[in-house]
Amino acid sequence: MRRLELIFRYAWTSPATALGLVFSVLAMLAGARPRMVNGVLEVAGGHLRSLMAVLPRCAGFAAITFGHVIIGLDHSLLRCIRAHELVHVRQYERWGVLFFPLYLASSFWQLMRGRHPYLDNVFEREAYGKTSVRAEGLTGRSTGRAGMWRQLQSPLVRCARYLISLASASLVSYRSLP
Ligand SMILES: [Zn+2]
Repeated sequence: MRRLELIFRYAWTSPATALGLVFSVLAMLAGARPRMVNGVLEVAGGHLRSLMAVLPRCAGFAAITFGHVIIGLDHSLLRCIRAHELVHVRQYERWGVLFFPLYLASSFWQLMRGRHPYLDNVFEREAYGKTSVRAEGLTGRSTGRAGMWRQLQSPLVRCARYLISLASASLVSYRSLP
């Protein structure tokens, strides 16, 4: 029974894991090294940290999980934040490929409410709530309200807010047509 449940978990999560494997190959081309830890593939190291530095600050991350694959900047960092990422692995096991749209929908919903799309995301709140990992370890940013609001003003978020305001403006003008 236990074995069957395990097979089901891996099968249900496999589309997300497959995507993680694609990113793993790219990460390994950049020098990252793979390790199997507790049935999860962890890929980290190489030039990932310097590549991450090129990304806009709002798009940066210390680690990201796709099914049973975790990609991180380096293995020592992954040891510190593994508990958080394992909560995401359990979330993938619960939701399968639905995790992607649900995660995005939660971020979008929080953004629409004027809250933080990452820290207030329901999946992140569960991961932070169940572990002692703090957001500074994952984002390298302050989690204070000032830091959060500064991040809200990042170009990417401002762009999203602009598009939302454009969409709602056109909706209003459409409704006001005679
Ligand atoms: Zn997380």
